[in-house]
Amino acid sequence: MKTISGTNLEQAKSHNRRVVIEAIRTNGPLSRAAIARLTALTTQTVSNIVEELARSHLLIPMEAQKIARGQPIIPYTINPSGAYSIGLELGRQRAAGVLTDLSGTVCARIDRHVDRPGPTEAMPVFAAIVRDLQEAFSFDRDRLLGVGIALPGRYADGGVTSLSPLNLPGWQNFPVARELERLIGLPVLVENDATAGAIGERLYGVARGLGSFVYLFLAGDGGIGAGMFLDGHLYKGSRANAGEIGHIIVEPHGRLCTCGKRGCLDRYVSPSVAYECLGIEDAQELDPDDLDAMIAANSRGLQTWLEQAVQPLRQTIDFLELAFDPQTIVLGGSAPPSLMTGLAERVEPLHIPVNPMEERKIPRLMVGATGKDTAILGAAALPIFSETNPQFDVLQKPIIHRAAEQAG
Ligand SMILES: [Zn+2]
Repeated sequence: MKTISGTNLEQAKSHNRRVVIEAIRTNGPLSRAAIARLTALTTQTVSNIVEELARSHLLIPMEAQKIARGQPIIPYTINPSGAYSIGLELGRQRAAGVLTDLSGTVCARIDRHVDRPGPTEAMPVFAAIVRDLQEAFSFDRDRLLGVGIALPGRYADGGVTSLSPLNLPGWQNFPVARELERLIGLPVLVENDATAGAIGERLYGVARGLGSFVYLFLAGDGGIGAGMFLDGHLYKGSRANAGEIGHIIVEPHGRLCTCGKRGCLDRYVSPSVAYECLGIEDAQELDPDDLDAMIAANSRGLQTWLEQAVQPLRQTIDFLELAFDPQTIVLGGSAPPSLMTGLAERVEPLHIPVNPMEERKIPRLMVGATGKDTAILGAAALPIFSETNPQFDVLQKPIIHRAAEQAG
């Protein structure tokens, strides 16, 4: 049974700090009075928090606005250089890292060639990328929040240890976060790629400020998954596997899936099926731009895939809308832009909505970030989300071994 935990004063303060940051992030620059109105916090509480956030460089005051009577109004905004984060990504042939600031802008990036690495090969490469990124850009190291990694795969035993990137050998049950923390002495957060993508869209993308949306993630290396924000909460499910929609059956007795069932969504919509239709065998070994160009040049193969993908995707969107009543569905992912654009165009018109007469302010389906940087920017968003989102307990915080093991 789940118990409801109380909050002590320190937790409440931390929560209120996050609420203030979130208010400014979603609304733009705000005065103390405006923050108090939006957050239902007292003006005194808001003043204290704003002062504290300004002292720690997370907020900066803008030019004062004179008003007819009384004190001029000072709006506060997020300071992009108030905090930094590193995102890491692993492919079969490429390990990559980006350093981003608090606004999600990329300050430095590093790519390294790898060859189907197991964890013992990949960890030192990641550690070197983290070190080199910090040297490639001049910033206050105390403001580095940590490192995020987005990996495909599922969770097991409620932990972040059982992700198996790209079905490469050796990754099953490998404690990625703990091992990398040991090497670099910084907090490391590992997330499923679809969840990381959803967080990226909520912080910086088309879903900014939305409380409820379902994010459909098409992975460049194969499958389809979903990340969900419901009523402002990142929803992960009782075993952190919510959003494994690739294995919803859309065609009873249909094609055999790797999971053992028949007719799973994955077997029709996922990029790996697209690559089959396009006759591309080694998609994961290709340069992402070359792959995108190959797809764009083969319109017949693309049409073959779209013809079988569109109906199952439409059916899935219908189901997600009816089950969760989100404000919108966001389609995005690290799959090549040529695939995503084709799919987004052809999937319309969607099935009849539950309330056809309703006037919608937000479209039912939106296209988010796509292409090769999607996963890595989502990864870099993890530490920032974890430090600044009011729903601060939703990401699993690994035990930080900073001081004790930093030497290594
Ligand atoms: Zn399946």
